[in-house]
Amino acid sequence: MALVLQNTKGDGGLNRGHIGTERRREEIGILWEKLQESLPYLDHVVVYVGASGSERVIALAAQLPASKVTFVGCDCGLPNKEALIQAADLDDARRILCECGGRRTMKLLFQNFMETGELLLAVPA
Ligand SMILES: [Zn+2]
Repeated sequence: MALVLQNTKGDGGLNRGHIGTERRREEIGILWEKLQESLPYLDHVVVYVGASGSERVIALAAQLPASKVTFVGCDCGLPNKEALIQAADLDDARRILCECGGRRTMKLLFQNFMETGELLLAVPA
């Protein structure tokens, strides 16, 4: 089992436009709890690292060994992202460079995984 994570800050919001902010915050909280519970059973996590607000998700990924973690991110603020990753002791985790926002890449990774059970090492342009 693998899990593809994308933080919901910015325009990538969960159920955007359909539910109020308060409700959405609650749902994200529930999602987060579920995620923490299932973490020990995951073979791999794919984590999207945005330009800001990724500390939480990186800290979560750090509960797994680096060999089970793939970070996906664009090159905006890359030194800062790398610093967070190194601070979390995940220097050996796999990286995939993606477009800004990472939507296309995350979608392709997810679809490919659902179809083949394999994680792509890179996403075709
Ligand atoms: Zn970018």
